[in-house]
Amino acid sequence: TTIPTIQIVDAPKYVGQTVKIGAWLRQKRGSGKMAFLQLRDGTAFFQGVVAKADVSEELFNLAKDLKQETSLYVTGEIHADDRSSFGYEISITGLEVIGESHDYPITPKEHGTEFLFDERHLYLRHIKPFATLKIRNTLIAATYEFFNQEGFIKLDAPLLTGSAPEGTTDLFETDYFGQSAYLSQTGQLYAEAGAMAFSRVFTFGPAFRAEKSKTRRHLTEFWMIEPEMAFMHQEQSLELQERYVAFLIEKVLERNDQELDLLNRDKDLLRSYTQLPFPRVSYDDAIKLLQENDFDVEWGVDFGSPEETFLANHFQKPVFIVNFPKAIKAFYMKRHPDRDDVVISADLLAPEGYGEIIGGSERDTDYDYLKAQIEKEGLDMDEYGWYLDLRKYGSVPHSGFGLGLERMVTFVTGEEHIREAIPFPRMTHRLRP
Ligand code: ATP
Ligand code: MG
Ligand code: MG
Ligand code: MG
Repeated sequence: TTIPTIQIVDAPKYVGQTVKIGAWLRQKRGSGKMAFLQLRDGTAFFQGVVAKADVSEELFNLAKDLKQETSLYVTGEIHADDRSSFGYEISITGLEVIGESHDYPITPKEHGTEFLFDERHLYLRHIKPFATLKIRNTLIAATYEFFNQEGFIKLDAPLLTGSAPEGTTDLFETDYFGQSAYLSQTGQLYAEAGAMAFSRVFTFGPAFRAEKSKTRRHLTEFWMIEPEMAFMHQEQSLELQERYVAFLIEKVLERNDQELDLLNRDKDLLRSYTQLPFPRVSYDDAIKLLQENDFDVEWGVDFGSPEETFLANHFQKPVFIVNFPKAIKAFYMKRHPDRDDVVISADLLAPEGYGEIIGGSERDTDYDYLKAQIEKEGLDMDEYGWYLDLRKYGSVPHSGFGLGLERMVTFVTGEEHIREAIPFPRMTHRLRP
C-alpha cells in the first residue's frame, strides 16, 4: 500500500494511519530518548514525536540536529493527543530533509517589532501573523459572499487616476507619459458610475494615501471595500452596513475559532457586536456627550482617536455617528434637507479603540450644486466632467460607503496595530520588504 501524503489540517481524518507530511520545523526540544518537533505546513501547527527506541540511531540523531525552519517530509502514524492545542500529533518513523536552514533570524526569544517587520517575509510564518492573516482571508471571502448574496456586482475602479477626489495633500503623484497621475485614494466616484449602470456595485481594491502622521490605524496602502447603491437612501444604507459588519464577524466566529484562540480574542465580546441594530447618534449629540465628559472639542471638528474610542466604548458596540458638519466631509455628500451645515453622512466607529471602520453617505444628486462644490474645492473641472454627467443623465437617489479592510482585521483580531493586518505593510518609514 502507498502512504498518503496529507496536510496537517487533515490529520484528524487519519488517526491510526501512517501518513507523509511536508512541513517546516518551527522549534524543537528533546531529551536523551525523545525529540519533539514543532511542525507547521501552512495549514496548521502540530507536534511530531521521535522516540529513540522506535527509530534507527541515524534517524534519531538527524531529528535532534535539525535547525529551525528546515523543510522536511515526515512519515509516521497520527494519534489523538489531548495535551496539544491541535489535538493530534504524529509519531515519526521516517524523516527526509528537503531544504536546510541555517541561522534563521527569528529565534524563539522575544524580538522588537521593527526587527520582526524588517523580517516580515519570514515573520509571516509565525503563529500571530498566520492567525491574523487567515482571519483577513475570511473577511475577504465573506465580503464576496455577502455582496453576491445581496445582488451586487464587483466593479473594479482604476488605480491610476487623473483626478484627486479627496484633496491633494495626501496623494501619491506619479509620472504618466509626461503628465501627472495619482494613485487612487478611493474608488467612490467610479462606483457611483457603476451604480447607475448595475444598480448595486462594490469596488474592492487598494487605496493609497500619503498619510504623514504616524498612527496605529493608518497605512499608506490599504484595501477598501466600497459598495454603492442606486435608489437607496441613507437609512437603508446604514441597515446594509450593519448587516455586512455583523456578517463578517459571524463568519470569522464560524471559521476561525482556532485563530481567535491563538490571538486570545474574546469570542463572546465579538459575538455581542453582532447584535443589531447599532446605535445611531447624531454628530451634535456626540459633541455634547464628549463635552460632558471633559473632552475639549467644539462643534465643527473632526474626531480624533481619543474621541472615537470614547464614543464607541460608551455604547459598548459599533456606533454610527450621523450627519457630520459639511465643512469636514467630501464635496459629493448630500445636503441635509433641513440644515445647511450638515450632510447626510455616517461614520461607523468600533469599540475598544479600533476607530473608524466605515465612512459613508447619501450622495447629492443636484448638478448645479455639485458643479459649484467642485469649483469651490478648487478641483479641475476637466477631471470631473464625467462625474457631473451622472447627474445630467437620469440622476437617482443613491448612497454608498467605504470599509477599510485592515481596520476591520484589527477590530476582529484584537491586534493593536494596523501593520499586523496586511501581509506587507506600507507606512511612512516602511517600503520594504
Ligand atoms: P480616518 O478618519 O481614520 O483618517 P478617513 O475618514 O480619512 O479615516 P475615509 O476616507 O472615510 O477615511 O475612508 C473609508 C475607510 O477607509 C475608513 O473608514 C477606514 O476604515 C479606512 N481608511 C482610511 N484611511 C486609512 C488608512 N490610511 N489606512 C487604513 N485604513 C484607512
Ligand atoms: Mg483620514
Ligand atoms: Mg475620518
Ligand atoms: Mg471617513
